[in-house]
Amino acid sequence: LSCPAPSETIRPESFAESEFKNTTQRKSNAAFVILARNSELNGVLESIKMMEDRFNRNFGYPYVFLNEKPFTSEFIKHTSDIISTKAEYGVIPPEHWYQPEWIDEERATQGRLKLQQKGIIYGESISYRNMCRFNSGFFFRHPLMMKYDFYWRIEPGVKFFCDLDYDPFLFMQDNKKVYGFTISLYEFSETIETLWQTVKDFMQRYPEHISEDNTMRFLSDNGGESYNLCHFWSNFEIGDLNFWRSPAYMAFFEHLEKTGGFYYERWGDAPVHSIAAALLARRDQLHFFNDIGYKHDPFMHCPTGAAHTKGKCWCDQKESFDYDGYSCHVKYETAMMPSTPAPDPLS
Ligand code: GDP
Ligand code: MN
Repeated sequence: LSCPAPSETIRPESFAESEFKNTTQRKSNAAFVILARNSELNGVLESIKMMEDRFNRNFGYPYVFLNEKPFTSEFIKHTSDIISTKAEYGVIPPEHWYQPEWIDEERATQGRLKLQQKGIIYGESISYRNMCRFNSGFFFRHPLMMKYDFYWRIEPGVKFFCDLDYDPFLFMQDNKKVYGFTISLYEFSETIETLWQTVKDFMQRYPEHISEDNTMRFLSDNGGESYNLCHFWSNFEIGDLNFWRSPAYMAFFEHLEKTGGFYYERWGDAPVHSIAAALLARRDQLHFFNDIGYKHDPFMHCPTGAAHTKGKCWCDQKESFDYDGYSCHVKYETAMMPSTPAPDPLS
């Protein structure tokens, strides 16, 4: 890549715009959101090139890039060059990213060592914890995100396999959905030792925030007594930003945040988002995007049969993760069956 001097940075909220003209189609007030480091430029380009080709060059949604450090001019140039519409580049306020003052660093260090010794991925990492806490509690209230109602989260190095001929943001909006996903799986229990007890405390304390038609059946095999570790994989999300900004979710996040579990353990934004989506939203507000072929290593969701044909997908249907033993998709399907009542999460 030929590029400007790497030391050069551009002012945080700068943006680049090219001339996508989608003035006739109805659109949602939505954006892609990409949290990334400058060093991940090539992976980001891979992801957004595929997103443009499969979907966005026909739909013209803007992108918001976020980073705790300013994006370099190289990052801004190469990403905005391949985007058909507007891209904005924001810096994350330090208090939304770094470990808060009140965290007991000794206890946090012990927590990291313990997970490292158990060989848990990112067990020792502070930056990973910053990222998980940011995605859990802050991305939807970044100044650049405040003007939007819906988002699609994208990560570096992911693949999109199928042509999308409809607008998933409008689908979410028109059907009052709040959370869309493609892959669900089991979490490492070591990373969330006290998360479920914290969730149970929340349910006791704030019964008014728990949805009557919840999806506890996806999270628990015993009516809420214990967590079965199922969660939606949050590297792909299409969601309603106002759900995260709601009093219910804000109370939920604050309740989790106060325990320090993001740093003393290694609570992921995936189980946090998933538990909230399953308990605070109605069951009919969740959506499995079967027609979006997607891969984040090492797992892939590939549409099969007619959906594969319709989307002109290039993924191998035989390798779709849906019915793998480590997938939670069957639990999701069961939880969504109309005949399956939502258990009372407080009983
Ligand atoms: P994994 O998918 O769980 O293996 O984690 P990733 O390394 O892919 O991180 C998840 C997302 O957060 C990706 O979009 C990364 O680019 C981003 N990310 C992770 N750590 C950092 C960080 O320290 N700074 C920034 N700016 N982005 C990060
Ligand atoms: Mn990733």
